[in-house]
Amino acid sequence: MKFNELKIKNKLLNNIDKMKYVEMTKIQENVIPEVMQNNDVLVKAQTGSGKTASYLVPIINNLMDVEKREDSCIKAIILVPTRDLVNQVYDSFEKLNDGIGLTVCKIMGGLNKQSQIDLIKDKPDVVIAVTGRFKEFMSRDLMSFKKVKYFVLDEVDKMLDLGFRSDILYIHQEIKRESENLNTLMLSATLPESIFELSVNFLKPDYKKIDLEEEVVINDLIQQKFLVMHNSHAMTALLKLVKENNVRTIIFANQIQMCSKIESLIRYLGISVASINGDRTQLYRDNVIKEFKEHKISVLVATDLMSRGIDIKDLDLVINLGLPEQLETYMHRIGRVGRAKTQGKAITICSLTEKEKLTRLIQTYNIKAKVIEKESWTKPAKESEKEMNKLYYNK
Ligand code: AMP
Repeated sequence: MKFNELKIKNKLLNNIDKMKYVEMTKIQENVIPEVMQNNDVLVKAQTGSGKTASYLVPIINNLMDVEKREDSCIKAIILVPTRDLVNQVYDSFEKLNDGIGLTVCKIMGGLNKQSQIDLIKDKPDVVIAVTGRFKEFMSRDLMSFKKVKYFVLDEVDKMLDLGFRSDILYIHQEIKRESENLNTLMLSATLPESIFELSVNFLKPDYKKIDLEEEVVINDLIQQKFLVMHNSHAMTALLKLVKENNVRTIIFANQIQMCSKIESLIRYLGISVASINGDRTQLYRDNVIKEFKEHKISVLVATDLMSRGIDIKDLDLVINLGLPEQLETYMHRIGRVGRAKTQGKAITICSLTEKEKLTRLIQTYNIKAKVIEKESWTKPAKESEKEMNKLYYNK
């Protein structure tokens, strides 16, 4: 189905056209009409399936209706789990909003607070934010929610997991209490049962549930492989994979210190690399993402900060050094490839102690993948590692 088959206003259609979107993705076909009719939605759709535009397009379209700009007030609030995602959603918003003139503001840590306060005092139409600073601004009474029409929780399962849950509940309650007419949109690629039950409390009883998992099978687009080995082989195997594949890669590691270690070893191979984690300043994070998007860096090492939502074009490979703590995070990590119907590859190095978790992962998500465990990898590395060291570290 094409975008111009819906009653989307011309200016917005032109912008969609400029972004080279012609056909709607499945998720957009299902979500856009519901939001245009102001229904609450709970959406589960695969990573990279066009979720962002599925809520931005109808929100912009409906807010364009409210032509009376003298009525300046916040009309839509979009909350996402990381600052990097705020930037990404903001960029998509700006492209769709080109020449339309809705005002938008980012609220997040890492940016000058006073300039954000000034922006919010101007009552922008749309606010894109992370939870922490948004809540802080609420407590300082900087915003009125009376005219808020749309409240979006993107990556909703992350937003409602224990770390953010009470803040989100509080924010939603306050917005709902003040707003005259609120629509709530919740979206994620993974939605565990417990989060699903919790999400429903946020929505009107006649909300629409859109679950397209059955129709878009991630496994067909992403070729997945698991290499099971003794921990002592892991780093050597990782470097070997990076060197042999020699493509644009994101490597996920579970600890910040490990990211730095991997980064220096890869740099030593003569490959352009950078790493991103929560300890880096926002400016550094923004620059690295920009350079990676511009192909100036070919390997990005990251913690799970980058596992959700981040959209990097022409990415070929995801490597996981170890399984993530939560199973669903695996699906988000590998979802950095195979976006917008492109092919991708994901290779995960698992330690012997992770075998039981690996079995659970494969069963939970019905993953079709090769699991390779060679006899020689199961013993602690000694001589073989030395060989590898010679090969990779002293080239
Ligand atoms: P998202 O899931 O929102 O991060 O989108 C994943 C990728 O799909 C992004 O690169 C979008 O620019 C792209 N995309 C979204 N909608 C469409 C569409 N209708 N046609 C082509 N590409 C799209």
